[in-house]
Order: sequence, then C-alpha cells, then structure tokens
Amino acid sequence: MNKMALKNRKELYRSYSEKMKSIADVRYAAAVLGWDQETYLPENGAAGRARQLATLSGIAHDWFADDSLGTLLQELLQAGDLTEAERKNVTRTAEDYERNKKYPAAFVQELSLTTSECYHAWMKARKANDYTLFEPALRKMVDLKRREARIIGYTDHPYDALIDEFEKGATVKMLDIVFAEVRDKLKRLLDRINRAPRIDDAIFRGRFDKDRQWQFGLDLLRAMGFDFSSGRQDISEHPFTTNFNSRDVRITTRIDEQDFANMTWSCIHEGGHALYEQGLPAAQYGLPGGEPASLAIHESQSRLWENNVGRSREYWACFYPKLADYFPGHFGSYSPEAFYKAMNKVQPSLVRTEADELTYHFHVMIRYELEKKLILGELDTRNLKEAWNGMYRTYLDVDVPDDKSGILQDVHWSHGSFGYFPTYSLGSFYAAQFFNAASRAIPDLPDRIASGDLGALLDWLRNNIHSLGRRFDAEELCERVTGERLNVQYFMNYVERKYAGVYDLS
Ligand code: ZN
Repeated sequence: MNKMALKNRKELYRSYSEKMKSIADVRYAAAVLGWDQETYLPENGAAGRARQLATLSGIAHDWFADDSLGTLLQELLQAGDLTEAERKNVTRTAEDYERNKKYPAAFVQELSLTTSECYHAWMKARKANDYTLFEPALRKMVDLKRREARIIGYTDHPYDALIDEFEKGATVKMLDIVFAEVRDKLKRLLDRINRAPRIDDAIFRGRFDKDRQWQFGLDLLRAMGFDFSSGRQDISEHPFTTNFNSRDVRITTRIDEQDFANMTWSCIHEGGHALYEQGLPAAQYGLPGGEPASLAIHESQSRLWENNVGRSREYWACFYPKLADYFPGHFGSYSPEAFYKAMNKVQPSLVRTEADELTYHFHVMIRYELEKKLILGELDTRNLKEAWNGMYRTYLDVDVPDDKSGILQDVHWSHGSFGYFPTYSLGSFYAAQFFNAASRAIPDLPDRIASGDLGALLDWLRNNIHSLGRRFDAEELCERVTGERLNVQYFMNYVERKYAGVYDLS
C-alpha cells in the first residue's frame, strides 16, 4: 500500500502547513532584502540586490507551483475531518494554487521581462517628462494584460480577471455601481464646498525641525498601540509598510522640514497598516489564516486611522497640545480649530497621493475608467494621454501642465498592476463602515479618542478584523463585522457630516 495513503489527515495537514511555512520563509527573506533596498542599501549594491531578489522570488514561485503541493491540496480537500479553520486555509491555498497554475511558463517569463522593461521606460520618461518614451513599453504591457485576462478567464468583463489578483470577489459590475453612486454624491458635495469661503491653511507652512518631527511621529505611533518590540520605523523616499511575520513589522516615513503634515499623516496611515499586520495570528504564519483578508481591507485599516481618527476634532483635542509642545514658536499662535480646518481643506489637485479625502476618489475613478477601456481594447495607449488629461478636466476641473504631474505620476502601470487602484477607494469606503460599527459598539468612543485612549478601538479592530486573517474575503468579513455588505452610504454620511462642519455648509 502507498505510504501516502497510510498517513492520517493530521499528518497531511502538518506537511501542507510546513510546506507553506517554508515558502513564506523564502518570501519574507526576499521582503527583508526589499525593505533594505528602500531604506539602507548603498547605491552600488543595487545590481547585486536585484539578482538576489529575483533568485529568491523564483524559488518561492517554483515551490508554490510544485505538483506535490497540488497533490497534497487535493488529498486534503477530499478529507472530511479537518477543522473549520484548517479547511478554510486549504481552500484558500487551493484557489491561489489553481490561479497560479493557469499561467504558462513562457507567459510568466515574458511578463517578467516586459515588467522590467516597462519600469525602466517609465523612469526614463518621468525624468524626461515625456510620455512618448513610455508608450511603446506600456502598449506591450497592456497587450500582455489582455492576454492574461484570457488566460485566467472571466464571465462578464476581462478586467474582472485582473482585479481578482488584488481583490477577490470585486468585479466591474460591483465597482461600476459603487463608483457611480459616489461620483454623483461627491460631486454635489464638492459643488457646495466650492461655493463656501476658502480655508486658510497658513498654519501648515513654516519650518519644522526634522528630529522633532521624528519624535512626534513616534509618539503618535506609540499612542495608536504600535508595538516597537515587534516592529520599527525608518526613513524612505516613499512611505510603506512591510512585514516579515506578525512579530516583525516595518514601516517607513519621510520627513520634509517645510511640511510637517506629510510625515504626520503618513505615520498614522502606515501605522494603521502595521497594526493590522501585528494583529494577524502569529500561529498561522505562512497560511491564509495569518494573512490579511485583502488589499482593500488592508487599506481600510490605514485609512480608518489616518482619516476617520487622524483627521478628527477628537483626536487632535488630545494631540494638538503635544504637537504645540514640539513646535511652540509655530503652533502657539494658532487655535486647534484653525488646525482642524486646515487638515481637512478640500482642493482639487493634479497628484493622487497629495489629494484630500474627497477629491482622492476622482483620481481613482479616472484610472479605473481608463484601465477598463484599455483592457477591453476600446482605448489605445497612443491616445491615453489625451484621455487622461481630458478626464482630469471633466472630473476635477484641473488642467494637466505636463506628463510628470499627469499620466506619468504613478508607478502601478509600469509594474503591470491593472486592477489595483480601485482597492484604494474601497479601503476608504470599508473604513467608514467599520468605523461606524466600532462607534456603535463603543458608545463613548469620541470621548476616549479625545482623551488619547485609543486602546478600545484597537481591541475592537483586533477582535473583529485583525485576528481573522484571511478566513473571510472582504465582502464576507464586512457582512460579519457590520451586518451588511459594502454600503457606500456610510462613507457618504461620514463625509457629508464632517465637511458640512468644516465648511459651515447649511
Ligand atoms: Zn496604504
């Protein structure tokens, strides 16, 4: 008799779990190198590092694509005596495995080469401020992505196959409805804001010492509950969060001495991502149960802290005096109310990453509409710049002066990440719905936040979201936590109430 057949289910599960943990070891080793590349790597180390990263991700990819894992998953799926949590892990891994198996080796290789070519073309085009230097490589990338949609397969729209990589369960059908609703309602709110007197944000201008900013950022992170014995913060050009396991979570920030807001809200944003990672179950390392539910849910955690908490009156009732202590010469002459209004100033702009809480979603909608058309074949990359600039006029009423602050501003397309942008907006919408549920569960939440007690909120997030890992997909999780699937009315209620106050709208 086959030795495999004699193994009991527990042993099979253990061997699956060990395989997954080994794959995670290799992936996270690559993540350490990636983190180092963005923070401390000396200039001349770049070529060697690229090689090391490629080797490690190749190994992780091969191990995950190995037939022996497929066989193991099949046997486990047929086993009847797994616990609920074990079955969830196996099912999720099998879904990932099947998706991964669909890619022919030649396609993977071509995509990897094109991605590297496309990224370099984008860098060069950005430097020269000239989209035409990026366009030929981007056209190749779009062709590949259209092929990828056919390889993966879809029912309604080819773009669905691509979103699936980032946000399982999200579709064009769902996003079209969500965005149409938000677009109309946000537009009406923006029109009202435009008729109101402008907010003076002079309070944000000045000179803010680097070291003091750094210390203040650490204070904010500590108050949120970031565990510095299970993580650290460093400096990088673009702030990001990465983790090597839930007991080692790294975040980065950047500090601009002319603009303390940049550091402040990026700290809170990345801190929100990090709290999620630190709250994932450590015992589920390498398994879906130890991973985040989805990109949108990840983003919901950063935005809940950054916006729903970090741009609220209550939060700054506690932290504004602390900020003023760090920069007494500057903030001493302004009121907390002036500070609150300035941090919530709404102003249509060119660059997505600098946009306010409201106009941000128009940046995402523009990219979403363009991506759908590119993937359907309705829009040619040769006409993409005109389409981009035209949509900025229609949606945000701004004229794009050059390619760098227009079509070349995001790195995503050069990486082939089509279908990623919608997760940013979904993150804000989920955040509002979660924050509403948390506020119902903790009736004195505003008072707690105003006194600097953020522990009850973190506990609620830990129990309801973080500790569940990827046991549920985004929509299932949302329903479990809030009693219904994504409902953008929570986001609209939140912004309508908040901005009516900020702008004294009647
Ligand atoms: Zn984020």
